[in-house]
Amino acid sequence: MGHGSTPTALVTATYGRRLGLRLPEGDQGAGRIKGRKIQPVCGDHVEIETIPNESDWLITKILPRKNQLTRPNQRGKVEVLAANLDAMVVVVADVPAPDWFIVDRYICAAELMGAATVITFNKADLGELRQSSADALAEYDALGYRSLRCSAREGMNLHLLSDCLAQRTAILVGQSGVGKSSLINSLSDQSTQPVAPVSRSSGEGKHKTVNSIMLPLANGGAVIDSPGVRDYAPAIEEPRDAVRGFREIRAAGIQCRFSDCRHLQEPGCRVKQDVASGGIAARRYESYRRLLFSAERLAERFR
Ligand code: GDP
Ligand code: ZN
Repeated sequence: MGHGSTPTALVTATYGRRLGLRLPEGDQGAGRIKGRKIQPVCGDHVEIETIPNESDWLITKILPRKNQLTRPNQRGKVEVLAANLDAMVVVVADVPAPDWFIVDRYICAAELMGAATVITFNKADLGELRQSSADALAEYDALGYRSLRCSAREGMNLHLLSDCLAQRTAILVGQSGVGKSSLINSLSDQSTQPVAPVSRSSGEGKHKTVNSIMLPLANGGAVIDSPGVRDYAPAIEEPRDAVRGFREIRAAGIQCRFSDCRHLQEPGCRVKQDVASGGIAARRYESYRRLLFSAERLAERFR
């Protein structure tokens, strides 16, 4: 930030229209949004102005986002949950039993956002993993996804997860009960956690629960925790996007006879051949088909 330029801040917490900020010098601040047109989320960089005689900042503008995690709300409008994510940590465990289709949905969303995927198998202290879990993890490794086994309870291998997140902003997702809160608690640097900004004048924000919060890690990384997002699996709304989220299917699809091949019943489909020969895991192909069909249903509903 040079002299005369508009100061910018990082959004580290949202409480309705009130936001927690990390200011240019690293200090924490609180802000409120100017007008009704913008809705910054955790991970956003925003332009700020001082307000005379107030400690609050006025947030005037959201700087362009690298990417955003979204979901359609009840009115069919897109709601942004977090912005500028470098990584998505997909947490799984043997208890509750993993749903690998949901994992593939998360990975697909991460691919579409251009965020790295880190598959984190938690509760490794429970002993040997199920064969189906071991097989799935081996499949992801073969596809080049980073995967690791850890235990939030016993602190095992948490440094591996922490290393993956150094200097990166990540969001933790996964089924309820897999240990996301436990992992976040073990990872985050308690001493530097942002505190809830409470407005003195209106009391707004006082009794509001946090929408989402960005927790700094000691190594310069950060984890965004958003209670409403934790076990939410993103919907893919554009059928063409389904294949973009499955890197091995996209790669094989380049060699299909038809350039618009959906890899279902078409002749000369390289993807189907690779599934038959075992080059593409049948489980992954099935996830692709389910996601494609659900995207087509969604697209039809909004047409
Ligand atoms: P979340 O719903 O994904 O946030 O999961 P929680 O962090 O609330 O954890 C769900 C349950 O799993 C709790 O009873 C935790 O104590 C337990 N749990 C979390 N991590 C581990 C772990 O590494 N090992 C074992 N054995 N249990 C864990
Ligand atoms: Zn094909």
